[in-house]
Amino acid sequence: MPLDASISFFGAAEQVTGSCHLVQWQDKQVLLDCGMVQGGDQVTELNKCRFPFRPKDIDAVILSHAHIDHSGMLTLLIARGFQGPIFCSDGTARLLPILLKDAYQLYVKDLEWQNKQRARQGKSAIEPCMSLKDVLEVEKRLKPYPYEQTVDVLPGLALKLHDAGHILGSAIVELWLKGTQAMRHLVFSGDLGNPATVLMRDPTYIEAADVVLMESTYGDRDHQGLDNTVEEFAAALDAAHKAGGNVFIPAFALGRSQEILYYLGLLYHQGRLKQKMVVLDSPMAIEITKIYNEMIDEFDRKDTRIFSKYGAKDLQSFLPILHLTKDVEESQALNRIQSGAIIIAGSGMCNGGRILHHFKHNLWKNINHVVFVGFQAKGTLGRRLIDGETRVKVLGQPLVVRAAIHTIGGFSAHAGQSQLIEWVSHIQGQPTVYLVHGEVPALEALQAKLQQQGMDVHIARHGQRMAL
Ligand SMILES: [Zn+2]
Ligand SMILES: [Zn+2]
Repeated sequence: MPLDASISFFGAAEQVTGSCHLVQWQDKQVLLDCGMVQGGDQVTELNKCRFPFRPKDIDAVILSHAHIDHSGMLTLLIARGFQGPIFCSDGTARLLPILLKDAYQLYVKDLEWQNKQRARQGKSAIEPCMSLKDVLEVEKRLKPYPYEQTVDVLPGLALKLHDAGHILGSAIVELWLKGTQAMRHLVFSGDLGNPATVLMRDPTYIEAADVVLMESTYGDRDHQGLDNTVEEFAAALDAAHKAGGNVFIPAFALGRSQEILYYLGLLYHQGRLKQKMVVLDSPMAIEITKIYNEMIDEFDRKDTRIFSKYGAKDLQSFLPILHLTKDVEESQALNRIQSGAIIIAGSGMCNGGRILHHFKHNLWKNINHVVFVGFQAKGTLGRRLIDGETRVKVLGQPLVVRAAIHTIGGFSAHAGQSQLIEWVSHIQGQPTVYLVHGEVPALEALQAKLQQQGMDVHIARHGQRMAL
C-alpha cells in the first residue's frame, strides 16, 4: 500500500497568528500546533470556534512552542473532546501551563464583563465554552522530550524536535511518515529565532526533507544590527536618569522580559546603569523568569559565559539590583518611589495588566520615561502612545501624557529575511516549501527570493489541503 498523506493549513496561512496545520496519512490525524488568532475579541473567537476537524478524531498534537498563537486553542480542543497526547519539548512543557492558565483567566474576566453588559440589555448570559478542568487536563496530556531525541508518536510516525532558538523550549518539528512502501519526511520550522538575540541558541540547521513548512514573519526585511538597538536602549535609560524620574517598560512576559533583564545586567556590570533598582512587576513574567533560571543549560553558551565572567549563574544573580514584586500591595507601593527605578510590567501592549496602574500614577509627570521594546498593535494604548497622542484614557481616567516616550524597534525574536533564506537553503533533497506565519507582503517577498534560487515554493492558503 503506497503512502496516502496530506497536509491542510488551518491557521497562520496568509497571516501571522493562529498557527495550526493538520497532517493526515492512512487513517491517522496529527495536528501541528493549535494556536489562537490574536488581536480580536477572545470570548467570541473561542465561543464561536468551529474546528475544521473533529477534535475527538485527532490522534495526537505536536506543539512547536508555548506562545499563545501556537498553543492557545489546546484548552478548547480538550473541552471539545480531544483525547490524545500532546508532544512538546521540555521547556514548552514547563511554560505552557502558565500561559494557558493566564489565557483562561483573561477569558473568564472578559466573559464576566460581557455578561454584565448583556444583563443590562436584557440579553441572556453567554455560557463558558471551557473550564479550568480542561486547562489542567492539557497539562496532564503533555509528553515532553529533549531536543534531538527520536520519538515514536504513533506506529509509523517518528518525531524529532530541534532547538529553534526563538524562546525557551521553541522547537523545529521533524517528522517521518512511514507507509508499507513509501516514506515522507516533513519539517515544520515553528517560529525561527533571530541568531543575533541573547540567551537563545541559533536555530538548528536541518539536513534534508521532502516537504518544509516555514515561518515568514520577517520574509520581506532584515533586522537592523542589535548593537545599535542596545545603544538606543542604554541612551533612553540615561536620558531618564538625567530627568530624575522613573522608567517604565511595558514588556511581554515570555521572552522579551528575560532578554531585557539580560541587557540590564550587562549595562549594570559595564557600570553604565545609573538606576538603583530594577523591579519586575508581572506575576507571569516572574514565574517564567524562574523557569528560565532553572533551565539555564538551554541557553547559548556565549551568553552563559558572560554570566560566569561576572560570577553570576542566572538572570537573577546577573542583575543584583533586580527585585521581584510579591503581591498587588507591593506593586501598588511602587507608586511611592519618585525616582531611580526601572519598572518592567505587563501587558506588553498596555491593553491590561499592572502597567496601567503605573501609568495612572506616572504618565502625566514630565520626569518619567516610558520605553517600548516590543511590537504595538493598532488599537492598543501602547500604539497610541508611540504614535504621539498627548491625551489618553487609562483605567477610565483621562490623562495628559507628559512622560517621554521612547520606541526601541530593533529587538526581535524572529529570523530576518536573509536568515530565513539561509536556514531553508541548508535543507537537502530539493523539498517543496510552503510558507506560513506571515502577512501577504512578507510571504510574497520571500517566495520571490526563494524562487530566484530555483526552489519550489508556495504560499500556504487557508483551508488548502496538499498531498505530501
Ligand atoms: Zn512564537
Ligand atoms: Zn508565532
